[in-house]
Amino acid sequence: MKIIDGKLVSAKIKEELAVEVEKLAKHGIVPGLAVVIVGDDPASRTYVNSKESNAKKLGFYSVKHQLDETVTEDELLDLIENMNADPQIHGILVQLPLPDHIDSKKVLNSISVLKDVDGFHPENIGKMIIGDDAFLPCTPNGVMKLLEYENIDLRGKHAVIIGRSNIVGKPMATLLLEKDATVTVCHSKTQDLLKITNCADIIVAAVGIPNFVTAEMVKEGAIVIDVGINRVNGKLVGDVDFESVKDKASRITPVPGGVGPMTIAMLMYNTVESAKRKGGLI
Ligand code: NAP
Repeated sequence: MKIIDGKLVSAKIKEELAVEVEKLAKHGIVPGLAVVIVGDDPASRTYVNSKESNAKKLGFYSVKHQLDETVTEDELLDLIENMNADPQIHGILVQLPLPDHIDSKKVLNSISVLKDVDGFHPENIGKMIIGDDAFLPCTPNGVMKLLEYENIDLRGKHAVIIGRSNIVGKPMATLLLEKDATVTVCHSKTQDLLKITNCADIIVAAVGIPNFVTAEMVKEGAIVIDVGINRVNGKLVGDVDFESVKDKASRITPVPGGVGPMTIAMLMYNTVESAKRKGGLI
């Protein structure tokens, strides 16, 4: 069994990005990333702080808008409109979840398609599905980069994704399909999950239930990618029962240190791409 080291791969990607940032500087361009957080959910705070510190380390122009839980939808939409028009900002990210009184869909749709570095805008999602150039959602794209760095040929392989959310499961299926994998997407209504996962060459777990994927669900030699981030007694735990699955899998991602750091690296990647596009460099 080999552990797929997301920390290492993300560090390599960020090294490459640092070179790109230097090149952009020669054209007078500094990639700008604005992150918006509403309320004070501790997990959201951790993610946002990490995104901000990564952006700063790479030499980006980094802005964080920490908004009170009581902010109105109109106030948030106004802020996004301003950032859409701000030439210093190349990427806008609104941390989810948003409070119930705010329509998340409306907010995400208001972000300029050209600055949608999270890849959640319907236009970017549509482009992704038809294989056009688009910002790809960071977590599934991070998984694809991990598989690429591991030199895994996906052609004809059976990939089973557990979870069908708009931000992980569905785009994950699209990206794997694009690379010629045969894809099965499972969800809470799926019957005989055990039988399906046992046919998988690759399992991507995006369920949100700690230690959900156990050894009996995994075929000998399968590749297991754990997208899950769950907090159990103050500890981060994935959706895969790492201890039992690691002896059956040929490769497996750990939590933490697997997909998580890749998500951030891909956000930085999308922001640099956006800055290059704006500067007419691609
Ligand atoms: P989500 O929106 O809650 O979706 C969970 C999916 O799992 C749903 O499609 C659900 O099915 C399915 N599911 C739930 N119980 C199931 C069961 N018993 N059997 C089969 N499928 C089941 O979650 P998400 O946003 O996709 O996130 C999934 C996990 O990834 C979470 O732990 C989250 O924290 C983590 N995450 C990590 C990153 C990262 O950077 N590493 C980024 C995003 C999310 P239904 O559709 O039928 O309800």
